[in-house]
Amino acid sequence: MITQPLKKPQRRCWQTALSLAITDPVHLLERLHLSPQAIAYCSKQAFGLRVPLEFVAKMQLHNPNDPLLLQVLPHQLENQATPGFNLDPLQERQQNPMPGLLHKFASRVLLVVSQACAVHCRYCFRRYFPYEDNNPSLKDWEHSLKYIAADPNIKEVIFSGGDPLSAPDRYLTKLVERIAEIEHVKIIRIHTRLPVMIPQRICPELLSWCTKTRLKIIMVLHINHPQELCTALKTQVAQLCAQQILVLNQSVLLKNINDCSQILSELSWKLFDANILPYYLHLLDPVQGSAHFGVATKEVQPLLQQLMTDLPGYLVPKVVREIPGAPYKVPACLSCTQALELPTLT
Ligand SMILES: *Cc1c(COP(=O)(O)O)cnc(C)c1O
Ligand code: SF4
Repeated sequence: MITQPLKKPQRRCWQTALSLAITDPVHLLERLHLSPQAIAYCSKQAFGLRVPLEFVAKMQLHNPNDPLLLQVLPHQLENQATPGFNLDPLQERQQNPMPGLLHKFASRVLLVVSQACAVHCRYCFRRYFPYEDNNPSLKDWEHSLKYIAADPNIKEVIFSGGDPLSAPDRYLTKLVERIAEIEHVKIIRIHTRLPVMIPQRICPELLSWCTKTRLKIIMVLHINHPQELCTALKTQVAQLCAQQILVLNQSVLLKNINDCSQILSELSWKLFDANILPYYLHLLDPVQGSAHFGVATKEVQPLLQQLMTDLPGYLVPKVVREIPGAPYKVPACLSCTQALELPTLT
């Protein structure tokens, strides 16, 4: 009889990892060997702390200014009102023709596939989005599918949220099958931060619906700091690349987290090493409670110039901001804004 070698202990599946996320700031701080008394965190909030253990494992111990911790720990500064920062900075409520569908740009529509996220990012521009009205079941997608089928300009359907990958794969499989029936749609793009939190989300079930469809699949990850990239994530991304899935990254420019050219350069190189190309670097949307993450506009241009000096062109992310009513994400340089006759940057 042939004896099998002992199997390595199994990693927890992504659903279990999701359910084990930390939601109590005191637990998080104690895990990082930080004293809760020394930190101005907020304990109770509607959009409270949520962070999976896999992400916590990438944080530094004893460092209250750890760039990953700062992205997730609710801070008392969030309760300050700042002029110009409001609940719906992108005025998306007006571009929401039906629950779950946003159509801002001609050739692509965005579907709010799931309202849940594995993590609550403190700067999130969708934190006040009326998700209760935007959580359709598969049956409710019929209206959205009809809408997409009726507009031949729509080439691409973007899965967003919340985080679309917090939805189960059997649900995503059905949704993709229905979208593939619409001939003029060529691409499904998945905007997700979940694999950054829980790399094992890139699982065989996900790879199965990504590879069985005639649609081209693009995945846009959301990584803000080089410390967020780990070997496990790199390994899972390699599986996507092996299936001809294009993997891109978008970041948000965040004060005291990544607003420095060395960190952004290092991020680009580490992304490249993991087969991920930088796509966008977003300027912060002025959502209430996030003003302390804002980088002054005058600092953006020198930062971008330094990045262009240090990096090959294909590793320089496009620096953009959202301007309500603009027909695309607007490059951060003033001249483009003026050409569009849009409000100038402040
Ligand atoms: C960001 C966004 C897109 C995608 O824009 P690209 O420039 O193609 O990346 C599409 N629809 C909505 C509503 C968006 O917010
Ligand atoms: S994962 Fe994305 S949608 Fe969810 S809280 Fe973070 S930034 Fe917002």
